[in-house]
Amino acid sequence: MAMNVQSIPGVTERINQVRLLTAEIINKEILPNENTLFAWRMGGRSPSDSEKEHIRELREDIKAKVKQAGLWAPHLPEEYGGAGLNFLEHAYMNEVLAYAQGAAALFGVVAPNSGNQNILVKYGTEEQKKKWLLPLIAGELESGFSMTEPDNAGSDPRSIKTTARKDGDEWVINGHKWFTSNGIRADFFIVMCRTEDPSGPADRNDKMTQIIVPAKTPGVNVIRGIPVWGRESDHCEIIYEDVRVPLSNQLGATGSGHQAAQDRLGAGRIYHCMNSIGQMWRAFDLMVERSTSREVHGGLLESKQFIQGFIADSYIDIQTARLLTLHAAERIDTGLDARTDISATKIYVPAAYSRVVDRAIQVWGGAGVSGDLPLAAMYQGARTLRLADGPDEVHKILIAKNVLKRHHAGEYWDFGNG
Ligand SMILES: Cc1cc2nc3c(=O)[nH]c(=O)nc-3n(C[C@H](O)[C@H](O)[C@H](O)COP(=O)(O)OP(=O)(O)OC[C@H]3O[C@@H](n4cnc5c(N)ncnc54)[C@H](O)[C@@H]3O)c2cc1C
Repeated sequence: MAMNVQSIPGVTERINQVRLLTAEIINKEILPNENTLFAWRMGGRSPSDSEKEHIRELREDIKAKVKQAGLWAPHLPEEYGGAGLNFLEHAYMNEVLAYAQGAAALFGVVAPNSGNQNILVKYGTEEQKKKWLLPLIAGELESGFSMTEPDNAGSDPRSIKTTARKDGDEWVINGHKWFTSNGIRADFFIVMCRTEDPSGPADRNDKMTQIIVPAKTPGVNVIRGIPVWGRESDHCEIIYEDVRVPLSNQLGATGSGHQAAQDRLGAGRIYHCMNSIGQMWRAFDLMVERSTSREVHGGLLESKQFIQGFIADSYIDIQTARLLTLHAAERIDTGLDARTDISATKIYVPAAYSRVVDRAIQVWGGAGVSGDLPLAAMYQGARTLRLADGPDEVHKILIAKNVLKRHHAGEYWDFGNG
């Protein structure tokens, strides 16, 4: 089943070109090979050595076609080997790219490396870029982003307790982190710390700063990969114990860590939501396909009004989520304050995604929760999104705060402009 992507009236020629080129690779190269390419199709079985070789060749072949189409690494500027897309082009690309679960890696986007690449592009010194960014882009290094802590609320990053104390020309880091994704393979971590500089100005102390920590530094103890959804994972618990790194490993100015984390998450939320929309689109197509082919109780599923209700509700969920996300994306793109819209999008889209996938699973019956379809993995992904990237509750508080602030300043909300 191919994704139906046509030109959109009213958007730029480049957006349409990017969407159509992406769809061509998804439809011709990835969907027909999903059974081979992705672990979720293997039912927990590890591939044999000859299968691994075949998978490797197939992946390299697809990556070459992505590069030829000028779509490689859409999150990076051209000078770093990326596609050099602007914000809207990238957002529109993601809804197509995400139709095939796992395809992003074949387009050079692999979290958390991609987020770390963006941070290094923005905050890294020339030396840091040479040492960490370029090898990361070339795939010679792996990385992790270590912010969340087991003993403090990840939804309130100001509560983190990991410290970096200045000692001579080194930072000495102590802290306990968990859910550091890619922690087992990572060659270096970007660690969020509270910096303490006994000789520095008091107002700079106790501020959050990101520091690059090579994984092999003495005192970096990767305790375990935390099982997630009942399976082994590389989301790791790590204890940093008297870890010494040069002061030059600090990313950006002292105290810029919170802003850097916001930079990573802010626009990233729009990209993640467009990814969710691509996955909803796939779940929707799968549901429609099944309802037109499965006969139950003397008729096709499509003839039952319960199922027609599912189709209508999912259509509304997807279109609402999509328009909300694009509205926020356009506000960001035109330099308007989009904080309320980003929060609304971040709450609405993962919840809509959960509902859309849930209905598709119901229509497919037992097959819906099997490893033969991407739906089970989507269901877990959608649930996780409701607590990652800022949990729903935190974003609701933000929306209410913005609305009430405006009201107390003497204005009702203007829905035409925000
Ligand atoms: C698969 C996965 C991968 C991850 N990868 C990374 C990673 O690479 N690096 C990293 O640093 N972290 C990572 N995380 C951690 C993730 O960012 C945190 O789990 C998330 O920020 C929530 O923090 P917490 O788990 O500490 O929950 P808490 O902060 O303890 O929040 C728990 C719940 O409290 C409620 N809540 C919070 N604030 C309020 C409020 N003000 N009012 C009412 N209710 C509230 C919400 O329901 C929230 O879900 C990952 C997590 C998962 C599941």
